[in-house]
Amino acid sequence: MIHTHEERELAINRLLNNYLAIAELIEPPMRKLIYEHIEAVFGLGLDDGKERVRVFNDKSFYFEEEEREEKDIYVSDEACDAIKAEKRGSLSMTHNHPLNVPPSSKDYKFFFKYLALNDMAICGHVGNLYFISKGNRFNKIKEEAIVNFLGIFDEEFIKLIKQYFIDNNIRLSEEFLLNAKEKDRQECLAREYAFKSICEGISRQYEGFVYYMEGAWK
Ligand SMILES: [Zn+2]
Repeated sequence: MIHTHEERELAINRLLNNYLAIAELIEPPMRKLIYEHIEAVFGLGLDDGKERVRVFNDKSFYFEEEEREEKDIYVSDEACDAIKAEKRGSLSMTHNHPLNVPPSSKDYKFFFKYLALNDMAICGHVGNLYFISKGNRFNKIKEEAIVNFLGIFDEEFIKLIKQYFIDNNIRLSEEFLLNAKEKDRQECLAREYAFKSICEGISRQYEGFVYYMEGAWK
């Protein structure tokens, strides 16, 4: 992955501005840590184009997991056990998306599944940022409620993506599919639509749930 000096500077500035926009949503002990970890995965990703995940808390417990070939979020069983053992709402998670795309269905599932994870920040390599924080009410809901929620999650996510294409009158014709760049752009916009819908839905249900998005394609 080659980034010119100018591209790097622009991306770093954009990421910093986006971070400043969310900083007030974050409790002071985590504020600095979250930025440090976003900056680290972002910087490493700019150099080698790989995706990395970091999970940490204010006790500076953290581990880093590199993505595997599959291009989906990957955290080892050992790391998952460590996350499970932590207190509800005590951990933050950051990772980078080299292709600048909004969160995937797997990202949400992972984030919602582990009660210890309080927030998730995803940064793209052009400095775009997606931030979700569960908030107090979500952190108090029962485990069974989360299991039920996760059960319908994939279905909902796909439904939202499809709805985006219908609302915007986009038909995935063969001609359209040939234009890879346009397809990627629409896929990204559809995921942003899903991100907003998912977050708004959860905000309504669980007061205190906050989110922020500054997308790649604007
Ligand atoms: Zn991801």
